[in-house]
Amino acid sequence: MNKQNLKNNFEECIGNTPLIKLKIASEISGCNIYGKCEFLNPGGSVKDRAAYQIIKDALKNKEIQSGGTIVEGTAGNTGIGLCLVGNSLGLQSTIVIPRSQSKEKKEMLKLCGAKLVEVDALPYSNPGNYIRVSEKISKEISNPNGVLWANQFDNLSNKKAHYLSTGPEIYDSFSGNLDGFICSIGTGGTIAGVSGYLKEKDKKIKVCIADPMGSAMYNYFKNGVLESSGTSITEGIGQGRITKNLENVIVDDSFQVNDAEALELIFEMLKHEGLILGGSSGINIMGAIKLAKEIGPNKNIVTILCDYGTKYQSKIFNKEFLESKNLPIPKWL
Ligand code: PMP
Repeated sequence: MNKQNLKNNFEECIGNTPLIKLKIASEISGCNIYGKCEFLNPGGSVKDRAAYQIIKDALKNKEIQSGGTIVEGTAGNTGIGLCLVGNSLGLQSTIVIPRSQSKEKKEMLKLCGAKLVEVDALPYSNPGNYIRVSEKISKEISNPNGVLWANQFDNLSNKKAHYLSTGPEIYDSFSGNLDGFICSIGTGGTIAGVSGYLKEKDKKIKVCIADPMGSAMYNYFKNGVLESSGTSITEGIGQGRITKNLENVIVDDSFQVNDAEALELIFEMLKHEGLILGGSSGINIMGAIKLAKEIGPNKNIVTILCDYGTKYQSKIFNKEFLESKNLPIPKWL
């Protein structure tokens, strides 16, 4: 009997995801580009890690107990993670999501039993913004067992999850031979936690960000200004402010990736590598290729494969949608 594979519950299945060498990205760039298979987490995304840490810390601090309610504003994945970890631990979930997010994520949230509140996609400065609405709802509802506003953007349990798990898992896989790490920013939890751990171990590891159009992070880490231009169909990434999780993060360089570059790669990888990835993974891998071209050849670079492409089937695998946005279309659709 292999005891390592015996898990007691949903939460124990989070993390320890494999790193897979990405064929096309490595061939194009002359480096070894590896993707961390976060889509293999039980809720299907990198956000299971943050969701579990947020709930674990809140239970420990007695902010909530069994029977309590979690409230969160999310592009979907954090909500799915919170709802599933919550179900496993006897908690209820109320999730606020912008209407613009994929119907697949919204349907998954409903089937998991979350109370779903859809709001218009509005900037953070507007009180109708999904994050602001989730805070308001958390203050309005009452539950004798506690109401927790997960507040993933500014709750430091988020980056702690990646400092304690994602970072060490990546570092330990390379026996000191890791040269670079790159990922995009939603809350900033992944980049901040992983960067914190890797830089502590070895300052020479280059930590960079990949940023979609319409996000201010590229300009911020390149020129120190929170400015953006353009738009992106990717979900869960892009940011216009320095969240608490991003404060004091060490980022060596930033790379901008447009949707067409990311989608071409996603379609090629599905056809030739058997990986069906979501939009943010495409941004990340294209960012890794750009980083590799600067620091390569023959370097070991890691990025994050955040979630499956099936979560966006109605968008990135939908010919009419792609045509309407003037984006590349997979040849077989
Ligand atoms: N990719 C996807 C698909 C996501 O849902 C998220 C989280 N919003 C991210 C990337 C970014 O991760 P983080 O919040 O840790 O910056």
